[in-house]
Amino acid sequence: MNQDNPSQTSNDVEKVTIIGSGPAGWTAAIYAARANLAPVVFEGVAKQDPALVLPGGQLMLTSEVENYPGYSEGVDGPKMMADFKKQAERFGTCIRSEDIEACDFEQRPFVLTTNAAKAIKTHALIIATGATANWIGLENEQRLARIGGGVSACAVCDGALPIFRDQPLVVVGGGDSAMEEASYLTKFASRVYVIHRRDQFRASKIMQSRVLDNPKCKVIWDTVVTDVLGDEKIEGIRLKHVKTNEESTLLCKGMFAAIGHTPATSFLKPGQLEMDDKGYITMPVAHRSFTSVDGVFVAGDVADSVYRQAVTAAGMGCSAAIDAERWLADQNID
Ligand SMILES: Cc1cc2nc3c(=O)[nH]c(=O)nc-3n(C[C@H](O)[C@H](O)[C@H](O)COP(=O)(O)OP(=O)(O)OC[C@H]3O[C@@H](n4cnc5c(N)ncnc54)[C@H](O)[C@@H]3O)c2cc1C
Repeated sequence: MNQDNPSQTSNDVEKVTIIGSGPAGWTAAIYAARANLAPVVFEGVAKQDPALVLPGGQLMLTSEVENYPGYSEGVDGPKMMADFKKQAERFGTCIRSEDIEACDFEQRPFVLTTNAAKAIKTHALIIATGATANWIGLENEQRLARIGGGVSACAVCDGALPIFRDQPLVVVGGGDSAMEEASYLTKFASRVYVIHRRDQFRASKIMQSRVLDNPKCKVIWDTVVTDVLGDEKIEGIRLKHVKTNEESTLLCKGMFAAIGHTPATSFLKPGQLEMDDKGYITMPVAHRSFTSVDGVFVAGDVADSVYRQAVTAAGMGCSAAIDAERWLADQNID
C-alpha cells in the first residue's frame, strides 16, 4: 500500500482525492493518475457487518459478474475489483485504507478528517462512496449471497444467471424496485413469489399492476422471511405470518432482497451537499459530475438511484476525473 504521495502540491495539499474503492472510485483514479494528478483514494475500512460498505464496494458481495464488458467468461466480483485496483496502482494512485469521517468545504483547500490521526487537504474531491443494498439481515442470507448460492440484492445484475432459469424465485419487498425486480425475473423464472410484510404495496399503482396482473407472480402478504435454507445453494425460505405468527416453508431456488438502498453519505453533515429526498447526491448540471459545491465531484451509485450498475458507475468515475482535471486547470493548480 502506497501511503505517501510524492506528487502533492505545496503544503501537503493533494490535487485530487477520491473517496471510495468501487468501480466509480477506481475508474476515477485510473483517469486522474494517467492525467498526472497523483490521486489519493480512500478505500474505506472493512466493517464487522459484511453487508455494510467494504473496500472494493458492492461487488465484493457477488461471486459472478457476467455483464461487465471485457470479461467474456464472467468474473468473480472481488477478482474484478482487484483488477481495477491494480490498474489504478499501476499509474501511481496513492491508496489509503481509511474511512473519511468528515469534510470541511468552508475552507479552501478542503479539509477531510479520517479515522486515522492526520487530516487531509485537497483541492478537488471526488465522492464515489456508493449506495449499500439493504438486506433482510439474516446470517444465511449473507453467507449464501457471498458464495453465489442464489441470494442477491440485484435482479438486473444476477437474474439471467443459469441457476435461476425456469426456477421458483422469491423477491422480498413492496416498493417500486421490488415490483421492477419481480416483473424482470418473470422473464427467467418458472414462478416469482413476492413476499411483503404488509397487506398492501407501497409501490405506485402502475408498478403494482406489473406484478398483480402477471400470471407468473404470486404475492404473499403480511409475511416476513425468518431464515434462508440451504448449505451451498438456497433450497427454500422460512416464513412467518405477521398477524397469525404461523410459520411455513417455501421452496425456491433464488431470493432477491429488494428493500431499497442506502446512499453512503453519513460522513457529510446535513446541508453540506444538495441531495434528493432519498439521500442521493444531486448533480445540478445534467450529464456532468458537478455537485452543489464547486470543486466537489460525484460518481457512481451515490448519485444514481436509477441504473446502479458497475459499468455506469465506472463511466461516471471517468466523467468525474475529467471534470476534476479541467476544474484544476481552470484554477491554475497543476
Ligand atoms: C449482490 C449484488 C450483486 C451485484 N451484481 C452486479 C453485477 O453483476 N453487475 C453490475 O454491473 N452490477 C452489479 N451490482 C451493482 C454494483 O455492485 C454497483 O452498481 C457498483 O458497485 C457501484 O459502484 P460504486 O463505485 O458507485 O459504489 P460501490 O461499489 O458501492 O463502492 C463504494 C465504495 O465507497 C467506500 N466508502 C463508502 N463510504 C466511505 C467513507 N466514508 N470513506 C471511505 N470509503 C468509503 C466503500 O468502502 C466502497 O469501496 C451488484 C450489487 C449487489 C449488491
